[in-house]
Amino acid sequence: MIKEMELQQLAERVISGEAVSKDEALSLLQIEDTQILELMNAAYKIRHHFYGNKVKLNMIINAKSGLCPENCGYCSQSIVAETPIDKYAWLTKEKIIQGAKEAIYRKAGTYCIVASGRRPTDKEISHVVDAVKEIRETTNLKICCCLGFLNPDHAKALADAGVHRYNHNLNTHRDQYEEICTTHTYDQRIDTVQQVKEAGISPCSGAIFGMGENDEQRVDIAFELRDLDADSIPCNFLVAITGTPLSGKKDLTPINCLKILAMMRFVNPAKEIRISGGREVNLGSLQPLGLYAANSIFVGDYLTTEGQQPLDDWRMIAELGFEIEECAL
Ligand code: SF4
Repeated sequence: MIKEMELQQLAERVISGEAVSKDEALSLLQIEDTQILELMNAAYKIRHHFYGNKVKLNMIINAKSGLCPENCGYCSQSIVAETPIDKYAWLTKEKIIQGAKEAIYRKAGTYCIVASGRRPTDKEISHVVDAVKEIRETTNLKICCCLGFLNPDHAKALADAGVHRYNHNLNTHRDQYEEICTTHTYDQRIDTVQQVKEAGISPCSGAIFGMGENDEQRVDIAFELRDLDADSIPCNFLVAITGTPLSGKKDLTPINCLKILAMMRFVNPAKEIRISGGREVNLGSLQPLGLYAANSIFVGDYLTTEGQQPLDDWRMIAELGFEIEECAL
């Protein structure tokens, strides 16, 4: 059992710039459930050093939904899913711009334009570029895009338009990627994160936990993200949507989710760590505790699942004594 003193000392070492080892990270995941407050307190020490009590809000717009030829087992937008979701081709430029206004209303600092599909076409990139330019001319919102695999020309076009960040998750551990998806590979995902970095866009990459990975693999994922130098790390917790191949899977408890968030903070101390999809469903009544490790959340709905109301997020943050990071007006 790790003693409270050792957790605090580990946090101090991390703050002073020392990296934790994989064994140390694993010991955080395997801590007794009764020590969860001690773990969150130590993670908070690191989180507070880098981010104080600020919470960054992000808002997603699903700019193109469903009809995706890939077979990611968790995704209701895949061709193999039988989930009755809204399916539509690209939203108009006006609707994407309207979403940016909603993001400002919700106090989000980053507006995330997401589209289903394997990779964007030239025409789709032009559509996004037009919308992004107009949003950037009229607001200070940061824009994140998540459009699938990118080639260098597409990455450059997005960078030139003012896209600040690009999301492409690793999703799961390399060794179990084929259990989750067979239409593309883990290495293709790494390649897109690298293309993004080379184009000068800030890389956002994370994972979906609760898809059958073990604790050692969770630690490997955190270290892979550290090696990739992802600036922003979304930690999603599987929502096993009815109609998807992973429907019914339930590996996580709320305390598991907290341990994962804390471990991610110890391994990637200075990065934006976001409690992402599945926050409400998986953390339940413990979700405010997640913010002692993470410093970022989505406000509003996810791609095909509902989030809690913005008012509830704002209240949760205020009641914790935390503050929303200043939003872009
Ligand atoms: S996660 Fe993305 S690539 Fe995979 S099926 Fe869903 S929309 Fe397609």
